[in-house]
Amino acid sequence: MITSIRGFRDIFEPESKLFASLESIARRAFGTYSYSELRIPAVEMHELFVKSTGETTDVVEKEMYSFQDAGERRLALRPEGTPGVARAYIQHNLNSVNPRQKLFYIGGMYRAERPQKGRYREFEQIGVEYIGNAAPSADAETIILLSDILKEAGLARFSVELNSLGCGKCRPAYRESLINFLHKCEDTLCEHCRGRIDKNPLRALDCKIDGPAVGQNAPVQELCPECADHFAAVQKYLDDAGVRYAVNRNMVRGLDYYTKTVFEFKTDLLGSQDSIAGGGRYDSLIKSMGGPDVPAVGWAFGADRVVSMMPPAAGAAEPLKAFVISMGGTADLPAFRLLSGLRRAGVKADGGDFAKSFKAQLRAADKSGAEKLVIIGENEVLKSTCMVKDLKTGGQTEIPALEITTFLGK
Ligand code: AMP
Repeated sequence: MITSIRGFRDIFEPESKLFASLESIARRAFGTYSYSELRIPAVEMHELFVKSTGETTDVVEKEMYSFQDAGERRLALRPEGTPGVARAYIQHNLNSVNPRQKLFYIGGMYRAERPQKGRYREFEQIGVEYIGNAAPSADAETIILLSDILKEAGLARFSVELNSLGCGKCRPAYRESLINFLHKCEDTLCEHCRGRIDKNPLRALDCKIDGPAVGQNAPVQELCPECADHFAAVQKYLDDAGVRYAVNRNMVRGLDYYTKTVFEFKTDLLGSQDSIAGGGRYDSLIKSMGGPDVPAVGWAFGADRVVSMMPPAAGAAEPLKAFVISMGGTADLPAFRLLSGLRRAGVKADGGDFAKSFKAQLRAADKSGAEKLVIIGENEVLKSTCMVKDLKTGGQTEIPALEITTFLGK
């Protein structure tokens, strides 16, 4: 017996239906906000994530599924979508077509984290990247879009945290002061953070072990006038749109490429896995990957987590209208024709297991939860009719076979 791998799930209805419903809500919103879909590969060069997500991030350092293929290339299963989208933007020279690209993606992501409720090794992310617009209205647009999708999906309780990480002008000074601070309290840090103080001091702020204590005492970043104005403008747009948020000056997010605005959508309904979505601006990523100097902002939310918070009604199956039974012999073909006719007319119908005995078909009909039973025997064939039995009331009528669709539609 071969079973699935730990952290990888089989998702049945009604949950799978909730995923489909969430995806269609998101697709509708993407259409309205004028984002187009980009399907990116699940496998990329290992280097892509090292260079973009960041060498010293947990995602790359500890959680990436990376392997060598038969051609001895170092590949990786994508742990997030942004690097692939940025690569595609550069590779296909989208900049020369139109530097401003609004893209969305939906797909599985892979991280070898310790599995627990709400944390899987394969999970779905739905994300957007708004490339080519440096204005704070772009940050606000993406945040409003995300908030709209989550509300439309029926999420009642989530909060938004907002911060600015500054830019190439104001970040270096902050980085220095953070390095000094971390060296002073080096003894109290976990081994991992101690090892990356000089390489990547920001990571201590979102380290699961050190984060809370470091956050309380670490220096807070001062923003340069441009970043401060940008941050204030984002907030002004969000206020105007009625999106509620709280500024958290210690939030840094777990990936390396962010500049200026970062944000996280959180909930208190999912226990320790409290993050629903995260994102931010990454104005220097595309250039650092060898592409043009274009700004960008984006986010991704975890579909698995959102689905687990959606009202169950969205996953309810549409009721089965009819279950078709043949009494055998010459009735099989007309019964099958009737069943196909119903489906082609858009009536949800099942049955068709005509090799089974009449009794066995009746039992299956009962189990199916169908509203009506449609029976065809040799008598009905001769008259071109069918028997319709209401499985709730037990009432029975004979109608012309050709009228079945209209009859059931009533
Ligand atoms: P990140 O790319 O780490 O910012 O994550 C963005 C969102 O993806 C999170 O807010 C979660 O909703 C979701 N997510 C991240 N990792 C996992 C995981 N291992 N299992 C399920 N969802 C995840």
